[in-house]
Amino acid sequence: MRLALAEAGAALDHGDVPVGAVVVRAGRVIAARHNERELSGDPTAHAEVLALRDAATHIGNWRLDDCTMYVTLEPCAMCAGAMVNSRLPSLVYGAADPKAGAVDSHYRLLTGAVLNHRVEVTGGVDAAESAELLQAFFRARRA
Ligand SMILES: [Zn+2]
Repeated sequence: MRLALAEAGAALDHGDVPVGAVVVRAGRVIAARHNERELSGDPTAHAEVLALRDAATHIGNWRLDDCTMYVTLEPCAMCAGAMVNSRLPSLVYGAADPKAGAVDSHYRLLTGAVLNHRVEVTGGVDAAESAELLQAFFRARRA
């Protein structure tokens, strides 16, 4: 999660919302990305989607068996859907997202009975640091 927070900070360099995501497999980091929506003009360029793509490229397979994702903010519906489609076994996230969170806050896409794959979820890890990054970003943008 420390590395995911560092990634989140890097998103600030190009005016993106500071969210970072890291994929770990067998104790090794195989992907580390941050939001690039503003940078790339791509509405799907959330940190989680980019990290899932990098991890799949690294493994050479779309199935991310034996992987854990660490992300600084509770994933949205798109990213949670991408996690289901990658068969990610395990997710650790930081701050809850009361606006768009699709893991615990609004929906339970990863742990409910609706979809064919469930992800083991741990939330609230280093949540204060993650939330502080986001709050500082939105404070600065309003100022
Ligand atoms: Zn997302």
